[in-house]
Amino acid sequence: MSPDTASHPTDFIRDMIDHDLQTGKNDGKVATRFPPEPNGYIHIGHAKSVCLNFGIAAQYKGTCNLRLDDTDPAGESMEFVQSIINDIRWLGLDWDDRLFYASDYFERLYQFAVELIKSGNAYICSLTPDEVREQRGTFTEPGKDSPYRNRSVEENLDMFQRMRLGEFADGAHTLRAKIDMASANIVMRDPVIYRIKREPHYRTGTNWVIYPMYDFAHCLSDALEGITHSICTLEFENNRPLYDWIVERLITGPRPRQIEFARLNLSYTVLSKRRLIELVNKEYVQGWDDPRMPTVTGMRRRGYTPEAIRNFCVQIGVAKNDNLIDVALLEHCVREDLNEHAPRTMCVLRPLRVVIDNYPEDKTEQFECANHPQNPDMGTRKVSFSRELYIEREDFMEDPPKKYHRLGPGREVRLRNAYIIKFESMVKDERTGDVVELHCTYDPQTRNAPPADGRKVPGVIHWLSAEHCAPAEVRLYDRLFKIENPGSEEDFLGYLNPDSLETLTGCFVEQSLQQAKPGSQHQFERLGYFCVDTKDSKTEKLVFNRVVALRDSWAKIAGGDKG
Ligand code: ATP
Ligand code: MG
Repeated sequence: MSPDTASHPTDFIRDMIDHDLQTGKNDGKVATRFPPEPNGYIHIGHAKSVCLNFGIAAQYKGTCNLRLDDTDPAGESMEFVQSIINDIRWLGLDWDDRLFYASDYFERLYQFAVELIKSGNAYICSLTPDEVREQRGTFTEPGKDSPYRNRSVEENLDMFQRMRLGEFADGAHTLRAKIDMASANIVMRDPVIYRIKREPHYRTGTNWVIYPMYDFAHCLSDALEGITHSICTLEFENNRPLYDWIVERLITGPRPRQIEFARLNLSYTVLSKRRLIELVNKEYVQGWDDPRMPTVTGMRRRGYTPEAIRNFCVQIGVAKNDNLIDVALLEHCVREDLNEHAPRTMCVLRPLRVVIDNYPEDKTEQFECANHPQNPDMGTRKVSFSRELYIEREDFMEDPPKKYHRLGPGREVRLRNAYIIKFESMVKDERTGDVVELHCTYDPQTRNAPPADGRKVPGVIHWLSAEHCAPAEVRLYDRLFKIENPGSEEDFLGYLNPDSLETLTGCFVEQSLQQAKPGSQHQFERLGYFCVDTKDSKTEKLVFNRVVALRDSWAKIAGGDKG
């Protein structure tokens, strides 16, 4: 193993590649690809596959292609192609000039099919789709041979050409591989490899009325691109013999090899494209980039970083068995990255006005505050202090329990980066009885210094100067589903979390945030990590998304394991 690979994880896929390299397979080359179908936006599961394929290529100094696997016109579009390209770039991965489209291979795939017919390995079947299904057999019973199985090569060639020319109705005929209707593997029972489908394709328009099936197109696209290791998810395991069967009959020279791994399943999330499309189309979310979506574009808008997502993909590793990964691990990776890189600032989500009675009315102080407690390189910013402040409504209790280290009648608390203040009185709304304003006094000796008399003031709260803060809307996101494994439920929409979005208007943030870049992340002290919304935030009306709260349930679990 080279020093280069030593820093990489090992897993059964890398073991196989090491073995291939040791035995001199593929002339020592490693070529992978990521093959999304452009019929939706990519999600965190795809990110796992992206990181795996591009990661392996980088580790072995090989190549990884981006291939749009666009052989089924239904639902495919340029919008999705563009989103996939943007999202993978944003994740920080690069394919140089190796961007390919399976639809560019339509002519060559057609010629491959002709070859299969000529060698007696494929035939035109005129059973209806229902009949094909009925005759396929079951796990315990073999299938029945199609009555069209022994059509002559000439007739097959003629009909296949006429299929291409559009002489037949959709579904009238299919091209099937002639393998074995009695195979124990149902996939091998004369699978359909071409079908008639009159649907315009977003790239080839109406040039084609026949389209190759995935099993036929994918392995041959791999071969055409010189892919050595075709990594895919476990549901294709039964298709591997078909992959090999096709490649063995049509490709001479080095052949690609399919390797399957377990797809990512994430708790409180669904990762099936079909279901994500349903969430979008039925407007359960506000689009593909809704910050609650597990899509890459959603996570980006939410404020997740590419580094955090890539780190998560390394941490979960690659396995051969399906499992459910705790979404708390993903959140943990995001939190770890933001803890290091997000500047600190103060925000008051639910403001309560505080008047410092003994602070001069016309005075303002500017405090120089560190942007990061451990990293002086991140600099400082000025925060204004004056007589009228906002604090968090929940940092005051009229009748607090003993252990409450915040503000209450007769209590003192430290304002972060500023003075210790003491409660004096409160003003209530006459109608509702709610506390609407506090009156306090401050101790001028305590700016960033302990009280001179040695008294203990354990609580620290955040605050803003009422005159010097900027209004903001803050969107608090929670998990989209309220059960751990919505993916396993047929009726998954019945388990949506009704509280997955809470929008707080009336919040305040430090004025310096009016200059913050859209998409930038900030730690609001004591509250969590927040990101300037790229779509809705304006200088006059700032909008923030909560990326993650501060409390790390994963670290707790992991810490607990260590005892
Ligand atoms: P569908 O279920 O509609 O086929 P898909 O999620 O498989 O969609 P593709 O565009 O075919 O979407 O996927 C591209 C690649 O990403 C494939 O190689 C697939 O195996 C991989 N992939 C998809 N979902 C996951 C997942 N949850 N975890 C890991 N890899 C995934
Ligand atoms: Mg797929």
